[in-house]
Amino acid sequence: MAHVFPRHTTGNLPLAVRGQGAYLYDSNGKSYLDGSGGAAVSCLGHSDPDVIAAIRSQLDRLDFAHTGFLTSESAESLADKLVAHAPAGIDRVYLVSGGSEAVEAALKLARQYMLEIGQPERTRFIARRQSYHGNTLGALGTGGNLWRRAPFDPVMVSASHIAPCYEYRDRQEGESQESYGQRVANELEAEILRLGPETVIGFLAEPVVGATAGAVPAVKGYFRRIREICDTYGVLLILDEVMCGMGRTGTFFACEQDEVAPDIVTIAKGLGAGYQPIGAMLCSDVIYRAIETGSGFFQHGHTYLGHPVACAAANAVVTRLTEGGLTDRSAEMGGYLMQALTAEFGDHPHVGDIRGRGMFRALEFVADRETKMPFEPELKLAARLKAAAMENGLICYPMSGTIDGQRGDHVLLAPPFICTRDQIDELVTKLSISLAAVL
Ligand code: PMP
Repeated sequence: MAHVFPRHTTGNLPLAVRGQGAYLYDSNGKSYLDGSGGAAVSCLGHSDPDVIAAIRSQLDRLDFAHTGFLTSESAESLADKLVAHAPAGIDRVYLVSGGSEAVEAALKLARQYMLEIGQPERTRFIARRQSYHGNTLGALGTGGNLWRRAPFDPVMVSASHIAPCYEYRDRQEGESQESYGQRVANELEAEILRLGPETVIGFLAEPVVGATAGAVPAVKGYFRRIREICDTYGVLLILDEVMCGMGRTGTFFACEQDEVAPDIVTIAKGLGAGYQPIGAMLCSDVIYRAIETGSGFFQHGHTYLGHPVACAAANAVVTRLTEGGLTDRSAEMGGYLMQALTAEFGDHPHVGDIRGRGMFRALEFVADRETKMPFEPELKLAARLKAAAMENGLICYPMSGTIDGQRGDHVLLAPPFICTRDQIDELVTKLSISLAAVL
């Protein structure tokens, strides 16, 4: 253990030894309700017998086949399943090992597509402030989290950033949701025109913002206007559903609720549900054909693309989410979670907003509800809430995000879809006790 390079080099972490349903257990026998599914990963909970059986049976037949030489049944059937539930026009699947890899593949595919169609001058990406797309240099470069970017800025792919769609803080008094959505979406058009439309490859966004802002969905109409703008200027729409996809928001893909189809979409986390590291980048037939009829080769790749065991696990996960009804359960139990959070925290003097979709919810904390003033960073609210929750046997995901340069705090909740109402009540009670200990 002492040789594992931990996330934080100070402090000792509990030793996880077992997982069952919505709970994790440490070596002292203490249980933790997995209220954030790790980081929105464990959508099925722990020790799911179907997924474990699928992994075992795959290992008995085939451990690995390098995709440079062979494809595998589990990769092919996973791709078929994903396409069957994908947004309109999306019908090719590139299987990787996680979220950052999926985003890197998306960025490179988008660039190569522009080369294939004879538009080499397109070299720029536009993304949004207050976004997170992964920790590798391309994904980090497009992401808009200032704190995560700062040390690496000089060595990253650069992107320009427009405002996020963040109703709680940015919709003005008297402005309708509709016109707010159009106003912020139009920032994309202004940025494309500023850069020169012939230089822009794509626009990258999370349909429901995860880690940096805490389950922030766009208002109705925002993404439809974004789609329109992308189409007008030949810019690709790349949606990052690494956190919000795979039933997390109550639909298989989050963008279904925004009534848009992207050109490229990335998924991970819930796809492997924690049982295997796997992610995917899905793209439209139009993009695929441009490569097929052009150079005939996507100039990218990793050793573990389409790993058969990871794909077998993901097949079982996707079956549970679709045929097994767990995506619908995410919608239903997510509604209950929202109700329970509103009942407990609706009048809390330091909870400014309660939001999200399905089993993807967040509370945003403020020093003052009237002014929406965030807490001072010195309070270290996120770190203290996390510690208090762990003490109380709850895993939740508090974060200090950036609110367009300012500091802000929220807690993200992303429990397994299998949670019962009692477990959701337990989550809310433990969160309330933990919050009372730090505020
Ligand atoms: N995109 C989004 C929206 C994410 O939330 C994350 C992870 N939090 C990533 C990409 C990166 O995924 P991974 O950590 O699997 O590389």
